Amino acid sequence: MVKQPTFENALAFASDLIAIPGLSGGEGDVARRVHQEMEALGLADVRVDDAGNVIGVARGRGDAPPAMLNSHLDVVAEGDHAEWEVPPFSGEVRDGFLHGRGAMDIKGPLALQTYAAASMIGEAPGDVIVAHTVYEERGGLGMKHLLESGEVKPGVVIIGEATHGDICIGHRGRAEVEVALTGVAGHASAPGRASNALDLLGDVLLAVRDLAAAQETDDLLGAASVVPTMVDVLPQTRNVIPDRVVVALDWRILPGDDHESLVRRVREAVQARIPSVPEGMAWEVRMATERQVTYTGIVADGNLFTPGFLMDPSHPVVEAAARSVGRRERVEDDATVRPWTFATDGGWSCGVHGIPTVGFAPGEESFAHTNRERLNVEEARWGYARYPVLIAAVQSAL
Ligand SMILES: [Zn+2]
Repeated sequence: MVKQPTFENALAFASDLIAIPGLSGGEGDVARRVHQEMEALGLADVRVDDAGNVIGVARGRGDAPPAMLNSHLDVVAEGDHAEWEVPPFSGEVRDGFLHGRGAMDIKGPLALQTYAAASMIGEAPGDVIVAHTVYEERGGLGMKHLLESGEVKPGVVIIGEATHGDICIGHRGRAEVEVALTGVAGHASAPGRASNALDLLGDVLLAVRDLAAAQETDDLLGAASVVPTMVDVLPQTRNVIPDRVVVALDWRILPGDDHESLVRRVREAVQARIPSVPEGMAWEVRMATERQVTYTGIVADGNLFTPGFLMDPSHPVVEAAARSVGRRERVEDDATVRPWTFATDGGWSCGVHGIPTVGFAPGEESFAHTNRERLNVEEARWGYARYPVLIAAVQSAL
């Protein structure tokens, strides 16, 4: 049975998706539901890749470079249900808003993108790939895998993260870097027989402060920032001199920073504060890593690194996007062009792979990851109507 690509059906699909929980690594049930809907809508080549991303294609009428519409399958934890005014997995439409975890981040936009693509079968200037990815909320393993695998080759990417109707063209990235200090453990009553790893901590914190004072600023994205956020001390015993200390740094980075350059800069800052290491002690700078397991069973021990990106506001794709979308109040005016405050999978598509990437979706960023998450239905209806115009415009601009 072929489903009709109407806004009402898209909204009902979004509501169904909200009712299916799925944190990063647990997207299987959501993925199956998305796969089923893509088939019902008549998309071609509907499939799930090794990492669990769901992909389908709306075949176009011509051979313009393919546009890829991307949202993610995972959501963040909903927290205490009692704190929600409307239950987090209800998917209820009340007072003009679709409510629940994922309403705007990102199951509402995911549904709109999927339906918008279906509405363009046989009409878009080129193929429209719909690829919804896993693990976006934990650094973007799904998108990284999708693009590295060569499974899709988009000429342009449109991300469905909330923009409130604006065209978003980039964001800062995020990296977690660790400074590990080692010494020799010993009884606290006999410091002479030990080398206290905490003795190096003060210099390391000063080194981070030096580094923080030397961060670059981008006119559009603002300043990069680095702060120490946690210190782990081992063994965790108050009468033992510790032999291991790990200082965690949260670094909001600008486009172009890769993990080698970040580690090198921390190393140089620490070296300047600790020119010679006392006997029996050592320090090391490294990226923080995390083991991630997809619902399909892929295991990845990855760096905690999400790249940033920034499109030139005068790039033809950006100009075409802003002009085609217009403003909700006045369609003759170009949409506002600006960066997001948070990171997205666009860091992989544009920051790493160089594919022109913009964001467009209804929804207010301030509701993301809160227990008031909601999507304005009339804004969503408007966004749904603008999507086909946007897709055709960016494909033609390439
Ligand atoms: Zn999101």
